[in-house]
Amino acid sequence: GTGAAAPAIELIGVAKDYASRRGAVTAVETVDLQIAEGEFFSLLGPSGCGKTTTLRMIGGFEEPSRGQILLHGSDVTATPPNRRDVNLVFQSYALFPHLDVAGNVAFGLKRKGIRGQAMRDRVTNMLELVELGALADRKPKELSGGQQQRVALARALVNEPRALLLDEPLGALDLKLRETMQIELKRIQREVGITFVYVTHDQSEALTMSDRIAVMNKGRIEQLAAPRDLYERPRTRFVAGFIGTSNVLRRTVKTVTTDGTGPVAILDAGIDEQLMVPLHDDLGSVTTGSVVELTVRPEKIGMTVERPDGDVCLLRGRVTEVVYLGTNTTYTVFTPGGDEITVFWQNSSDSADIARRGDEVWLSWREDHSFALAPGA
Ligand code: ATP
Repeated sequence: GTGAAAPAIELIGVAKDYASRRGAVTAVETVDLQIAEGEFFSLLGPSGCGKTTTLRMIGGFEEPSRGQILLHGSDVTATPPNRRDVNLVFQSYALFPHLDVAGNVAFGLKRKGIRGQAMRDRVTNMLELVELGALADRKPKELSGGQQQRVALARALVNEPRALLLDEPLGALDLKLRETMQIELKRIQREVGITFVYVTHDQSEALTMSDRIAVMNKGRIEQLAAPRDLYERPRTRFVAGFIGTSNVLRRTVKTVTTDGTGPVAILDAGIDEQLMVPLHDDLGSVTTGSVVELTVRPEKIGMTVERPDGDVCLLRGRVTEVVYLGTNTTYTVFTPGGDEITVFWQNSSDSADIARRGDEVWLSWREDHSFALAPGA
């Protein structure tokens, strides 16, 4: 055909209010998004931000109070779950205890009238995909948590839905197993090539697997971007704090100039110090006297005893905490202005500690390694 294909999933002004005795509770304020066919897309945010409600509306298990939901270009806002071409996987996998692994996976096929050799072939292929071929005869209680999760996944995929919705599916697993399963899920999604929509409150999980992430807060999307963009260019204080660790500095603008790449705010700083930050488009107008918040990641900050030369951002401070973590050391540095700055220092084989508790140090970073946050956020 001609023209671009419709997105696999599209939400237009979708909102959800729940009636309660004390009036309406708004679970989702308004969400607009488009998810492409074959994308691994995550909804990430703290407990209660509305991500599960959003996922359940995509699946048809909740009806939006306002807005429209489109799957592959057709409006399904009022379509029941069993007539949408999507499948849902929960944290509690709810396997049938009396059926073996193959029986659990075959269950959905039987209901669709697929039997005999065709059914057996599809079950075998699915068990190979999730690497459970050798365990087809086991009962769920004879499996580990990770293996049970794989069965649940195989069962959800065997009907070949066009999209799979996953609600914290790894939440019950311990950290090591969860990390293994994250890589596995990503591999499986790549192999089957269908759209995954994944709900999690775990930022490292979202960063590991996703093509794009919508960070949600209080029923709204704060930022929707690829993992690297979210980390390197968080638009709001919430996103900067929720994804990884970040330092946020709040300063008054002395003047606005331009360098080779665009406008730059020169900020108030102490004697011998210098602070500046590039100004990107959606900041609105920033002028002399405006207050700006900038964020800089702990691993972008250099720490030296001597004041470094050059056109870099520079702060001085005193080391108040040193935590050795093997591959890196975390330093906490207090500035005379009252800012507490975290620095991650990568330990190489020949490095001694670069500073000790109580030392006076200089902190420096490249201006373009810091990012200005949207005002009021
Ligand atoms: P969690 O990670 O804790 O599951 P979440 O981000 O998935 O959180 P939701 O489950 O979508 O959040 O809930 C969003 C808000 O809507 C919460 O304040 C919740 O209490 C409320 N809510 C959810 N379901 C209902 C319901 N059936 N009736 C009333 N309020 C609800």
